[in-house]
Amino acid sequence: MHDLSRRRLLHQTAAFSSIPLLGSLAACGTTFPSDPQIDGRLFSLGVASGEPWPESVVIWTRLARHPLNGGGMPDLPIAVRWEVATDDRMRNIVRKGIATALPKDGHAVHVEVQGLLPHRWYWYRFSAEGEESQIGRTRTAPAAGQRLEALRLAFASCQNYERGYFTAYRHMASEDLDLVLHLGDYIYEGGSHDRRPRRHNSGEVTTLAEYRDRYALYKLDPNLQSAHAAFPWAVVSDDHEVDNNYANDLENNLSVSPAEFLKRRAAAYKAYYEHMPLRRAAAPRGPDMQLYRTLLFGDLAAIHLLDTRQYRSDQPNKDTAGLGDDRHGDPRATMLGPKQEAWLYANLAKRDHVWNVLAQQVPMMQRRRPRANGTRYELDQWDGYPAARRRLTDAIRKSATQGVIVLSGDEHENWVSDLKANFDDPTSPTVGAEFVGTSISSGGNGYRTTRQFQRVIAANPHIKYHNGRRGYVRCTVGRETWRTDLRVMPYVTRPGAPIRTPASFVVKRRMLNPLQV
Ligand code: FE
Ligand code: CA
Repeated sequence: MHDLSRRRLLHQTAAFSSIPLLGSLAACGTTFPSDPQIDGRLFSLGVASGEPWPESVVIWTRLARHPLNGGGMPDLPIAVRWEVATDDRMRNIVRKGIATALPKDGHAVHVEVQGLLPHRWYWYRFSAEGEESQIGRTRTAPAAGQRLEALRLAFASCQNYERGYFTAYRHMASEDLDLVLHLGDYIYEGGSHDRRPRRHNSGEVTTLAEYRDRYALYKLDPNLQSAHAAFPWAVVSDDHEVDNNYANDLENNLSVSPAEFLKRRAAAYKAYYEHMPLRRAAAPRGPDMQLYRTLLFGDLAAIHLLDTRQYRSDQPNKDTAGLGDDRHGDPRATMLGPKQEAWLYANLAKRDHVWNVLAQQVPMMQRRRPRANGTRYELDQWDGYPAARRRLTDAIRKSATQGVIVLSGDEHENWVSDLKANFDDPTSPTVGAEFVGTSISSGGNGYRTTRQFQRVIAANPHIKYHNGRRGYVRCTVGRETWRTDLRVMPYVTRPGAPIRTPASFVVKRRMLNPLQV
């Protein structure tokens, strides 16, 4: 066990406070944790909001006076007052109430605030035991079916705390956004390692208490807190919230039985729910969690958040360390499970929205990787499940759904691609576009697009672009065009990196190929 030293926390806070407060956040009243005495403060883990509906949004916090040591709260329910206002000084309060933080939920608080007006900014705050949380800002979705001209969102994934600073979130917090999507690897479950810029607080986590302390470590990050406080988020988990490359009830290296692994999955899902601004419908029951869902933004966008971990069949050739040549595996192989597949295809057939967004964990495009021993594929991604991918692209084509945009995480690199009806036939129709987000910090500083990557692009005519730096992706969604700006930084192993946009793409709704602009 490694205790995060007070010295390290002081250092981290000092490094952050040397960064000037961002204008838009200062203006909206969001405050940053500036107290180096993190232990002892009730609202040490910040606030968050999410799941915007036209009249309702979730606001979240978790009480934790000793966040890295089980929360440090008494074994008692605690009354938490919450308030929602139309102004950043919390003067015009329009909704308020009392929530109860329970020991069995790690003293997490999820409030589904009802009776709000569509398409509005709101500010919110919690208080308990004489202490107040920071003020968070959130935004409701437009009214159902309302004609909407624009939606601004960002998406991110893969934030290994040990590999770098979450500087990207400080930049994200100063963007002008309606929504943030997190596509998985919010924590990493692994142990602590020497010679890394930051350090995990324990060995590999497997129990509820350990997962909670790991989330608390990540949630203490001031930059992550600032991005949560600035916008509503919608989150889905990938593998590292539980165990690297797990598949359904199968642990990565099959070292425990499915029954044993489901106990770990139940602990991991519970801790995930406790720390995310999710609706009660997503609260896990034992090892099961209903995570796939749709968020609607007027008539402009239906965002389908998928779960590609909980129901998938095992990766083919799982012992081959990720890469393999067996991409003609079992035609019954599934990424989403039959129930989620049917749900998704029914939603895609509705065609009520200008854009249908699939926000999900792992890259969907085919990537042939030329190697000395032949072509290789990444089998944990959709490339390991070609029959499942083909069923999805067939469903898109049959329903004549327009404007399909796939947003993916997992890869720790930006990739931009056409989504082909049949990736093995370059002349087959393009049924959508895919943008793969890079990591927030996983993998460290990143790398240039070397010859190895150029060879992959050359072997896959549908692929347009690669970038191996860290950051997030910003999307500006209009009625005729979808614009994607890749936002990356030169380093993450030290705080304070600047951000830039090395490439932007525009997708026209009736001509889906992303064109670099
Ligand atoms: Fe990752
Ligand atoms: Ca992953």
